[in-house]
Amino acid sequence: MRILLVEDDVILGNATSIYLRNSGYVVDWAKDGKLADSALHEVDYDAVVLDLGLPQMDGLEVLKRLRTRKQTTSVIILTARDSLEDRIAGLDLGADDYLIKPIKLAELAARLRAQLRRQHAVLAPTIEYPPLTLHTKDRLVTYQNQPFALSPREFSLLETLLVRVGRVVSKESLLGSISDWDDSLGSNAIEVYMHRLRKKLLLVGIEIRTVRGLGYLLDKQN
Ligand code: CA
Repeated sequence: MRILLVEDDVILGNATSIYLRNSGYVVDWAKDGKLADSALHEVDYDAVVLDLGLPQMDGLEVLKRLRTRKQTTSVIILTARDSLEDRIAGLDLGADDYLIKPIKLAELAARLRAQLRRQHAVLAPTIEYPPLTLHTKDRLVTYQNQPFALSPREFSLLETLLVRVGRVVSKESLLGSISDWDDSLGSNAIEVYMHRLRKKLLLVGIEIRTVRGLGYLLDKQN
């Protein structure tokens, strides 16, 4: 799951991005509104955590542009305690939730999970794809109730394929689900990680199909 964090406060932004990365998300951090706006043009994020008071372009304007483009990405806004008007304006402009600063990171993570569940209807606490079970909160896969060893990136790839089961997922989306701006993963990195994931899944009889020129696919099970 790839999150855009928009926050100009360096200390808060740093703490938040570290916390979210440790929770298993891929996080891009934009420190001003303009950068956020252009990132939202380019990448299809699973959710946005949006501060309102920002340099270059304020958060409400970023949100307004996002919704004008009919993008339905989940947005959680961060507002100051005394700005009831901002909160109302944010919700009116199509924010899905808000948190009042100072925020508690554990609460932000919980609100994000709730938004992502709504966004991806299949993102239940667990996803069954027999014989495997993927536990979205603990970032763990089990096989016959025992942990099934996957690296964090292999886990993210499997999760991305599972929330889109039955649909072809492009290499670009898969790359987006495992790397942020700071990573320099080339697109052939996907082939390397997919090769490893495939080998592991074959051991339990699950096959990831390659759809030439389009991407990868996990078939629906009956
Ligand atoms: Ca701010």
